[in-house]
Amino acid sequence: MFYAIGMKILVVEDEERVAQFIQKGLKEEGHAVDVSYDGEDGGFLAEVNEYDLIILDVMLPKKNGISVCREIRERGVITPVLMLTARDSIEDRVRGLDAGADDYLIKPFAFDELLARVRALLRRQSEHKTPTLLIADLELDPMTRLVTRGGKPIRLTTKEYALLEYLIRNQNKVLSRTRIGEHVWDMNFDPESNVIDVYISHLRNKVDKGQKIALLHTIRGQGYLLSDDSPLI
Ligand code: CA
Repeated sequence: MFYAIGMKILVVEDEERVAQFIQKGLKEEGHAVDVSYDGEDGGFLAEVNEYDLIILDVMLPKKNGISVCREIRERGVITPVLMLTARDSIEDRVRGLDAGADDYLIKPFAFDELLARVRALLRRQSEHKTPTLLIADLELDPMTRLVTRGGKPIRLTTKEYALLEYLIRNQNKVLSRTRIGEHVWDMNFDPESNVIDVYISHLRNKVDKGQKIALLHTIRGQGYLLSDDSPLI
């Protein structure tokens, strides 16, 4: 069973009692919860902070939830939105979904039902997120293809990136030239060619040069290894 804890959730709800009830319950589930009491402030928070989920009431002072949802979507916020709507307003539900909400919950609701929706949305959210690949202080984000070492960005060409991603996914394993060639280039790769050596030396310059710990190792007669442990040769 999926159990997301430690998520960051924004609750936009003007009825203080309802807002606090949701906040308290979600905190007990291990989440960090911000509360906003009007549409303008809620929309602002949704844009400037990174939330894993937004719970958004439709009837709000200053700006209604449907406008808030539409605006944050237009500004590129992709955080899942759970809309809270009134029982008698089918129209609100449809408009909410059209405005980019992911799900809705009809008021009044039981906390268990809210929790079930929250879990489902967080699960979907975490399936979309590709985890960052890590070794020592080297980080690689397969979604954005952003590579950093010690927090500093490293600029790589497409091929250098592909090679590094393959190495980091197979860290602590010695990879032969043939294996690297087949995965990063193509199956017709000529293992006698020195192209991998050339790319490895580019990567060494960009990733290891000036660092205390070298991550890229050549294992004579066998291939290459990405490891933060000194390899036994
Ligand atoms: Ca309200």
